[in-house]
Amino acid sequence: MTKVLVIYTGGTIGMIKDPETGLLNSFDFNTVYEHIPELNRLHTEIDTMSIKKPIDSSEMTSEHWVNLAKLIKKNYHHYDGFVILHGTDTMSYSASALSFMIQGLNKPIIFTGSQLPIGVIRTDGKENLITAIEIAASKDSNGESIIQEVAVYFEYSLYRGNRSSKVSSNQFEAFKSPNYPELAVAGVNIKYKWSALQRSEFSEPIYQFGMSKAVALLKIFPGMDIELYKGLFDVTQTKGIVLETFGSGNAPSIDKMQKIMTRYVEDGGLIINITQCSSGGVKQGAYQTSSFFNKIGVISGTDMTAEAALTKLMFVLGNEEDSDKIKALISMPICGEMEC
Ligand code: ASP
Repeated sequence: MTKVLVIYTGGTIGMIKDPETGLLNSFDFNTVYEHIPELNRLHTEIDTMSIKKPIDSSEMTSEHWVNLAKLIKKNYHHYDGFVILHGTDTMSYSASALSFMIQGLNKPIIFTGSQLPIGVIRTDGKENLITAIEIAASKDSNGESIIQEVAVYFEYSLYRGNRSSKVSSNQFEAFKSPNYPELAVAGVNIKYKWSALQRSEFSEPIYQFGMSKAVALLKIFPGMDIELYKGLFDVTQTKGIVLETFGSGNAPSIDKMQKIMTRYVEDGGLIINITQCSSGGVKQGAYQTSSFFNKIGVISGTDMTAEAALTKLMFVLGNEEDSDKIKALISMPICGEMEC
């Protein structure tokens, strides 16, 4: 029988309504079978584990990601797949971070959660959890895991983790993968998009746990006064900035802004240019208003999500020291997070 480890980190999915007070409380995850007896009918051996103090995912930090990655490393050879139950708010950040920290997977790590608590009658949590486990346990005809990467399963769709974004705070369809096809769609059967799936050339995953905190995410807007953000462009404090620009990577040609950014890059700061549009990517130099970025050495983040760009920056800065290597790694896809 295939074995799946379910790791509970917190979030809405693990809550039930206290019948007396009507308040939502986290339930003891070891009693999950009482709430979802259907789990007994899956032909999979399921072990459950909870982090010491389950949290709302707004409280997630890079330390939590490191602990999760280490937990997977410790258990990697004991299970066929992993399901991480996580709050939806920052799930795409965590899935992106783990995809960088554990590369070369040949087993699935599936993140899921829910919009309604598992203890609420109309919950989406049961379907999400049951199908995520089914996907985590699924093997192909050679006996190999079908999914060999970090993914997010939500409302009948499986997405590459570092391509996903939370797009709705109140719809069951809460996630999207704007620039990459779904890895699978769950209907009567689970239909995998074989050509979109990642395959590793390594027999063992490569674990790297460094995550720098000296990063920032800045969204530009019309009429922005860059003076207010000057402190951010100080390389002794901020080693890298993800800049969310307009359309295909454009920014106003304001002299002051250009001077501050030029100085920052000259001092060794990294700027990654991503679009603030909800789909598509950056093409630096397509318009006059983005050609300046090419001139000073801003790195195009092509079609990366903000979640992927930020966690990639944290990851690369946390594990590499050589500045040419850092720039090269940021400019190219390292685990399917961007187009070439
Ligand atoms: N605030 C919750 C969280 O992200 C929302 C959810 O789980 O859907 O932890």
